[in-house]
Amino acid sequence: MIEDRLKTELAAIAADGLTRRRRVLAAPCGPHAVVDGRPMLAFTSNDYLGLAAHPEIAEAMAEGARRWGAGSGASHLVSGHLAPHQELEERLAAFTGFPRTLTFSTGYLANLAVVPTLAGRGSAVFADKLNHASLIDAVQLAKAQGAESHRYPHNDLATLERQLAASEAAEKIIVTDAVFSMDGDLTPLPELFELAERFDAWLVVDDAHGFGVLGRHGRGALDHCGIPAHPRILLMGTLGKAAGVSGAFVAGSDIAIEYLIQRARTYIFTTAAPPAVACALLKSLDIIAAGDDRRAHLTALIRQLQDGLAGLPWQLLPSPTAIQPLVVGGNEDALRLSQALAERGLWVPAIRPPTVPKGTARLRISLSAAHREADVDQLIGALRELA
Ligand SMILES: *Cc1c(COP(=O)(O)O)cnc(C)c1O
Repeated sequence: MIEDRLKTELAAIAADGLTRRRRVLAAPCGPHAVVDGRPMLAFTSNDYLGLAAHPEIAEAMAEGARRWGAGSGASHLVSGHLAPHQELEERLAAFTGFPRTLTFSTGYLANLAVVPTLAGRGSAVFADKLNHASLIDAVQLAKAQGAESHRYPHNDLATLERQLAASEAAEKIIVTDAVFSMDGDLTPLPELFELAERFDAWLVVDDAHGFGVLGRHGRGALDHCGIPAHPRILLMGTLGKAAGVSGAFVAGSDIAIEYLIQRARTYIFTTAAPPAVACALLKSLDIIAAGDDRRAHLTALIRQLQDGLAGLPWQLLPSPTAIQPLVVGGNEDALRLSQALAERGLWVPAIRPPTVPKGTARLRISLSAAHREADVDQLIGALRELA
């Protein structure tokens, strides 16, 4: 019975042309991928600073494994919280300017920790409609515990303000991506923070795509917007994107972090990440902090791409970040364009509904400081030829 239903649903996915396939890569993460035995120039990863295969970070991980072993052996609250984990939390706090941080195995788990742990009966959650799937799931969990939930149209602060004013909940929490993963745009954080102050709400910011890239020394989107640490802000940052390794952190006030340690189920009931991952991240943080050249190079590549694609029939969304979506429109057109690029040895994924709104199928071009100017030129040349 179950199997029949799964078969039927899989057939329906296939009939819609929406079956997803994984490619097996035979080289480390980087612009020069080897896909199914074939070299490809990749514009696909979230490795925005080119750190995923950085030799010093790989060496710090190897050294960490020799010194601390392969596994942590337990959850943080039992006996899995090793010295490198503690040092990483302290370094992340110093780097982000928040009093305290807590690390998680993934960003997905961090988001599932923050929202449902803070919000339950008597609270109301206000979420941007384009938030990442992990935040959407986090809000669902909060709802299951009796929280009220509201979604506002993307970046529509007038609607958010009306929702905040109309809600009679005793506690209010605004939840948003800082940089939206399919559009690459920044949410207006200063205005959101102002609303949070006015309505005595907390603001949860998911900075998966801004941490390491935006702000002074890569401190992230809040720093980019000039917003210092504040007791009503919780910042989530991932460590598998620009930081090039794995994991995530939540930064906040002493009280907020202490409460998460005591109550967050996705922190408590899971094995702590390998200590070697924390060792790699300590090295990554050094490189991020000293990485103004990498960020300047990335910014130059973004501008080069924007200038190079001007005047094409497809529209590049106005994104100031490494995520540069080229909106093609139709699903088949986006797929065909992605396939034509692949035939030329260029790997740029097509993103289709339901991941993005109908009629806005797009190529999601991800740039990295590991790309060279010549790589971006090659992509521009191919796209101009195909136009
Ligand atoms: C990638 C991402 C996450 C999840 O982080 P992982 O560490 O990959 O689990 C959460 N939020 C946003 C906005 C993301 O882009």
